[in-house]
Amino acid sequence: MNTKELDSKYVANTYARFPIELVSGKGSKLYDSDGKEYIDMGTGIGVSVFGVGDEKWIEAVTKQLNTLQHASNLYFTSPCAKLAEALCNRTGAKKVFFSNSGAEANECAIKAARKYAAEKKGSEYYNIITLNNSFHGRTITTLAATGQDNFHKDFLPLTQGFLYADAGDLETIEKHIKEEKVAAIMFETVQGEGGVVPLEKDFVKGLAELGEKYDVLLIVDEVQTGNGRTGALYGYMKYGINPDIVSTAKGIGGGLPLGATMLFEKVENVYTPGTHGSTFGGNPVSCAGALSILERLDVEFLQDVEKKSAYIIESLSSCKGVKGVTGLGLMLGIETQKDVNEVLSVCRENGVLPIKAKNKLRLLPPLNISFEDLQRAVNVIKKACEV
Ligand SMILES: *Cc1c(COP(=O)(O)O)cnc(C)c1O
Repeated sequence: MNTKELDSKYVANTYARFPIELVSGKGSKLYDSDGKEYIDMGTGIGVSVFGVGDEKWIEAVTKQLNTLQHASNLYFTSPCAKLAEALCNRTGAKKVFFSNSGAEANECAIKAARKYAAEKKGSEYYNIITLNNSFHGRTITTLAATGQDNFHKDFLPLTQGFLYADAGDLETIEKHIKEEKVAAIMFETVQGEGGVVPLEKDFVKGLAELGEKYDVLLIVDEVQTGNGRTGALYGYMKYGINPDIVSTAKGIGGGLPLGATMLFEKVENVYTPGTHGSTFGGNPVSCAGALSILERLDVEFLQDVEKKSAYIIESLSSCKGVKGVTGLGLMLGIETQKDVNEVLSVCRENGVLPIKAKNKLRLLPPLNISFEDLQRAVNVIKKACEV
């Protein structure tokens, strides 16, 4: 059997895969099992920040791989400590908990918020407000946090203690806070899986004000928006707010599984030995790779991300068959007149691999994609959108 047949027969049937078997890549280029070349406009869902086969990352990872691959959290290891330091220095967070995925990073954020509220206000203050159309993960608790009913179907009962409101609806959020006992508000700055929908600045400022007024923690889920993706190191930095907890994953590991939950001042000491943990979390190889990514996401580099973003927005907004472009930085959604699956299929045929978010085309290219590759990809997308 070939890979597609084997996969269909033996891998759990949870994914509607594109009809391509990827075998290798370099930078912004991916190659399939027929040797066909593609420009990568999806980076494995916003993971490969510096593309495939990034030399600095490979060097950092292989160096660590040849030294110590795993230690468990029973021991100290340098990459984990250094990455925590770097994240705190870059964000103002006080402490970091490491895990292996976005869902786990959010679980840690939710547990931290509940523990803070339980200790400070009482254990009945366990509710967390999330937004409709959000996405926070696939575990039973992060599904509960995810404000989209279609993800909940057939998995009930989910973890209790989540309240929902529409993005923009500060009134309902304040009502929840007054009528229920609330620990935290949790949101993505750009709703990724929800269709690449950025939150309004005033709304996010309003959330921060409510948080302050009622001592309700602000949790920002930066799993997709983090690590330079939006043109800021973390998306919340574009909104001028001070979160209490920031979760991230996807891009931080540069291709290896890694989740991080940053704990700011209020929740700095909420975790004590034995209250949370992870066997693989803070794995030295993943952390060594992450350090090599983070140190290159400087001001100059992020300005370049913004330039590329502006180029895509300008090129695609006005083109035939495109209804609009949403998003921030290199996390963009293209609303097309044609069915998105049709557009994706034409892009694939012509050697470009974007992904989708709801009914939109979603672009998450490597942040260091060359202008030349970007231009080529944009031209193919333009043509594919044309009606
Ligand atoms: C992808 C994603 C998650 C889940 O991450 P996993 O690594 O798949 O568990 C959570 N939140 C957001 C915003 C995401 O985009």
